[in-house]
Amino acid sequence: MLGHFDQRSNYPSNIVHFLRNSPHNTDFNMHTKAIRKSVLSLLLQIGKDSFPNEFLAQLLHANGIIDDIVIIPGTITTPVSAYVRDDVRPLMLNLAGTAHSHPNGVIRPSSTDIRSFAKFGGQCHLILGPPFTFDSWRAFYADGSVRALDIIEDDAGHII
Ligand SMILES: [Zn+2]
Repeated sequence: MLGHFDQRSNYPSNIVHFLRNSPHNTDFNMHTKAIRKSVLSLLLQIGKDSFPNEFLAQLLHANGIIDDIVIIPGTITTPVSAYVRDDVRPLMLNLAGTAHSHPNGVIRPSSTDIRSFAKFGGQCHLILGPPFTFDSWRAFYADGSVRALDIIEDDAGHII
């Protein structure tokens, strides 16, 4: 039998069906509560290193705490956009959301961003801007509204 692909995500349809009904589907069943400080620090550093271009990463969580990131191969970035092909986005059960930078310093999602949040999935989308300090980022729900996100100090010796 030929494979069928979900129109929205381009993942195999049978897997999308399974995930939508899975208790592990964090998109529907769990809200991310916090981010590890070392991960936020890493994102701020990537934002700084990518400047004046944007960067884009997926955020992974364990038990509601963002603890890792994935940079997707082939991501194309410019000063005003970050683009990932739909057919190369990794499918992960522990996806919390995304992080990307706005080099112009406007820390709010564009209408393109909100469409992209829905496509990626997850309920925690970070936008970071210059000067890429702990005060120059915000977290948003998939609909673009501002949300709270705690920062958790890493355990001594924790290495990412
Ligand atoms: Zn954006």
